[in-house]
Amino acid sequence: MALAKLVDIRKKYTLEGLELEVLKGISLEIESGEFIAVTGPSGSGKTTLMNILGLLDSPTSGQYFLNGEDISGLSDDELSHIRNRTVGFVFQSFHLIPHANVLENVLLPAYYSGESMKIMEKRALELLDRIGLADKRKNRPNQLSGGQQQRVAIARALISNPQIILADEPTGQLDSETSASIMELITELNKGGKNIIVVTHDPITAAYARREIKVLDGMIG
Ligand code: ADP
Ligand code: MG
Repeated sequence: MALAKLVDIRKKYTLEGLELEVLKGISLEIESGEFIAVTGPSGSGKTTLMNILGLLDSPTSGQYFLNGEDISGLSDDELSHIRNRTVGFVFQSFHLIPHANVLENVLLPAYYSGESMKIMEKRALELLDRIGLADKRKNRPNQLSGGQQQRVAIARALISNPQIILADEPTGQLDSETSASIMELITELNKGGKNIIVVTHDPITAAYARREIKVLDGMIG
C-alpha cells in the first residue's frame, strides 16, 4: 500500500471573480520510506501541493488516499485529527513563537496530542539533545542563529512522532553551510525511517532527496 496516493488533484482559487487553476490534475504515489524533493519555479504550485499533502488545505477535486484511506470527503475536524498525528511541518521562516523558549516551542504540538506532558517533555529534551541544543532550552528563538532556529523547528515537527515530515523551503533563509547541516539532519531522519517531502527551488537542497517531483505550472513535469 502506498503511503500517499493523489488522483487527479485540482485546486482552484477565485480571485475578484476570476478563476485560477493552480493545480491542474496532479496524480502521484508516494511509497513508505521515501525522501522526495518537490521542485519547480516560484508560483508553480509547490506550496499548494504541499498544503494538500499535509492536510492543511483541501483540493477542489480529485482523490487523496493517505495510508489507504480516502480522506477526500472528511470534515475539517477529522482532517486535523489525522494531521496532528501524521504530519510534522517545517517552514522557511521557522515559525517559532518568539515569546516562548526553545523547550516550549518544541512542546507546542504536544498540547494537542493528548499525551501526558511529562512524557512529552522528556521526549522534547531527548530531541533537543539529538539536535545539539539541549543547553539552549531556556533561550528565546531570537537568541539563536537561523540554523539553530530551524533545528528547533525540526524538533517541534518530530515531537508527535509523525509519519511524514513536510518541509517547505527549509533552507530558503540559510547560508549554504547551514543549509547543508539542516539537509544532513533531514537525511538522518529519513534513514531512521521518516518519510520526507522537501519543497525547494534550490537544486543543491533537492539533491539530498532520493526522488525529485518537478512541478511546472500546476502539473507534474
Ligand atoms: P510555489 O510554492 O510554487 O511558489 P504556490 O503554491 O504558493 O506556488 O502558488 C501557486 C499559485 O497559486 C500562485 O500563482 C499563487 O499566486 C496562487 N495562490 C496561492 N495561494 C493562493 C490563495 N490563497 N488565493 C489565490 N491564489 C493563490
Ligand atoms: Mg512556495
